[in-house]
Amino acid sequence: MFENVPRAPEDSVFRIGRMFTECEDPLKVSCGIGAYRDNDGKPLVMDAVSEAKKRLHENPGWIHEYLPLGGHASFLKGAQKLALGDELYAEKSAEGKVGSLQTLSGTGALYVAGKMYSKFSPVKKALISNPTWGNHNAIFTNCGLEVSKYRYIDESCTSTPKLDLSGFLEDLEAADEGTLVLLQACAHNPTGVDPSQEEWMKVIEICVRKKLVVLLDNAYQGFATGDVEVDGFAIREFVKAGADIFVACSFAKNMGLYGERIGALHVVTNDKESCLDAVSQMKIISRTTYSNPPQFGALIADTILSDDKVYGVWKEQLAVMSERIKSMRGLLRGYLEAETGTDWSHITKQIGMFSYTGLTKEQCIHCREKGSLFMLETGRVSMAGLNEGNVERVAKVMAASIK
Ligand code: PLP
Repeated sequence: MFENVPRAPEDSVFRIGRMFTECEDPLKVSCGIGAYRDNDGKPLVMDAVSEAKKRLHENPGWIHEYLPLGGHASFLKGAQKLALGDELYAEKSAEGKVGSLQTLSGTGALYVAGKMYSKFSPVKKALISNPTWGNHNAIFTNCGLEVSKYRYIDESCTSTPKLDLSGFLEDLEAADEGTLVLLQACAHNPTGVDPSQEEWMKVIEICVRKKLVVLLDNAYQGFATGDVEVDGFAIREFVKAGADIFVACSFAKNMGLYGERIGALHVVTNDKESCLDAVSQMKIISRTTYSNPPQFGALIADTILSDDKVYGVWKEQLAVMSERIKSMRGLLRGYLEAETGTDWSHITKQIGMFSYTGLTKEQCIHCREKGSLFMLETGRVSMAGLNEGNVERVAKVMAASIK
């Protein structure tokens, strides 16, 4: 059997991570994987997570049993409230028009949504942004969908990436009714380029009018602006516009729970029965894929989301983390402009964990080989890997690659 299995290529993000680990240069910098680091370049356990773990250990009202198939009920309520905001949550949950499945982080939520769509939609076409997070294409192809791309970044200015709004809207207009459209709710990966609120309203109008099936990938709520409410704008406006939507949420980034694999897939529907139907089918998909979701991450996230004090601590620290990233954008831009004498304002206009620098593949390889700066070969830099101790050197390495 196994003699006939061809070797698969290494995942591009994890490949860069491996090369970073293998590099022996003491000045090496990791800007590949999208995981937060503090100003000393260390992984961070958020204070709210430490507090939640302490409470869970001191006062374990839980045992090591299976969670129900749908997941941890109280966690799911908290996750719905976070995504929808208090008012819409109260309205939709009272009407039975929001339902959820606990998932294996954001990736699991996207997979279940892709599977649901492929099982129950006659159209079987997915539209994703060009560019997007590498796994989107792979997940939806794996779900049997025909995947194509909508324009997102203006091709006329690749060295200073910005939104191609008219191309984006035209491609949505041209999509067949019932097409699954994946939109990133905030902090677009890999570009850091988000539509403004006004631009979002245009996107929403087309999606609703053209009866597109919207899947919002909500992997970074709180990481774009530092405020979970502002970052929830697109989700909430889609719901207010009366769209039936999927929302795939991850708590990897905004709670720093990367390894716990904690996420949720929400559906917001226009009637109660469809909501029950959808959730019943989502449970079948999880049952036949991995059965039940893991418990510990759900317990931590539930403690954070359901206790006012811990929630406050969490929100405050999230704001500090996103502020640190913003300050790195300012420093990187300043050093790059000083080194190159050209405009790098796109770095500070972009938002969230990533910056699409505009560097070419060759320039990224140059950065890695000559400067031990590890970034994706698409020019994506994880801003979280920068700190006051390395940002000037990173700018010098980048500048040297384009000379
Ligand atoms: N969606 C986007 C846009 C991402 O960048 C990521 C992770 O990098 C995910 C979803 C899924 O993340 P996870 O499965 O770790 O929650």
